[in-house]
Amino acid sequence: MLPTIVHNGPVMSFPGSSRRTQSLPLAEAPSPVPPPGVDCRKSAFFLDVDGTLLPLAGHPRDVSVPRALLERLDEIRSLAQGALALVSGRPLADLDRLFAPEIFPAAGQHGAERRDGAGKLHRRDTHAALLHRLRPKISRCTGRIRGSFVEDKGLCIAIHVRDRPEIVDGLRKELESVISPHPELALLEGKNVLEIHPAAMDKGRALEDFLTELPFRGRHPVFLGDDVTDESGFDAVDRAGGTSIKVGAGPSRARYRLETPAAAVAWLSGLARDHP
Ligand SMILES: [Mg+2]
Repeated sequence: MLPTIVHNGPVMSFPGSSRRTQSLPLAEAPSPVPPPGVDCRKSAFFLDVDGTLLPLAGHPRDVSVPRALLERLDEIRSLAQGALALVSGRPLADLDRLFAPEIFPAAGQHGAERRDGAGKLHRRDTHAALLHRLRPKISRCTGRIRGSFVEDKGLCIAIHVRDRPEIVDGLRKELESVISPHPELALLEGKNVLEIHPAAMDKGRALEDFLTELPFRGRHPVFLGDDVTDESGFDAVDRAGGTSIKVGAGPSRARYRLETPAAAVAWLSGLARDHP
């Protein structure tokens, strides 16, 4: 049986944490509706990874992709004639290592780097030198706060705060003061992580870029994500008349919801299995 997919209820305000998502109206209370009729052959799939296809782990290194998931994704990609992309905060190299031997079109580091459907790389790296200069200041912020660690992704810097929600407010204030003179940078807050990334790029804009290109162009976009960092992607697919699906609990502007990564994978598997 397919997992229950639910429709989000009335919109309410929510104090989001990134500069770009702060004012987006997000919905809290979902109400059940039947799954939308998504046809693999006519859709373009955009999939976040951590917390969406895979359960969240304490450290980004502590995850692996089950063989069965790889097979399902490959199946859906074939049905969609190649229109399946990963859209993640991880660097592309990290995604390729995780999903080996498959190489998918992908947006990494929240869209700061992107491999399109033809395999061409696009990188937004105009801020890279600035980010490098700020790195010592960022390390000083985190060095004062026990329980945090820094992941330098190249075009983004992630500050992980696993299992220490009480340190987030203080850390956010410090990091905001570091980047405030630099409007080309933005602070994005996800689950157990704060990320400094280029303000000119987010998952929504990466998704829009994919949708101008083959094999994604002209298809019904479907985006699955689990975090505040995915809200711009939900917004982009909704504007394109697509299907936005939040995975897990928490407020979201996505139109539909699946309760867990396992439910998300089961739903995707069902789309492939039920294909006529
Ligand atoms: Mg995620």
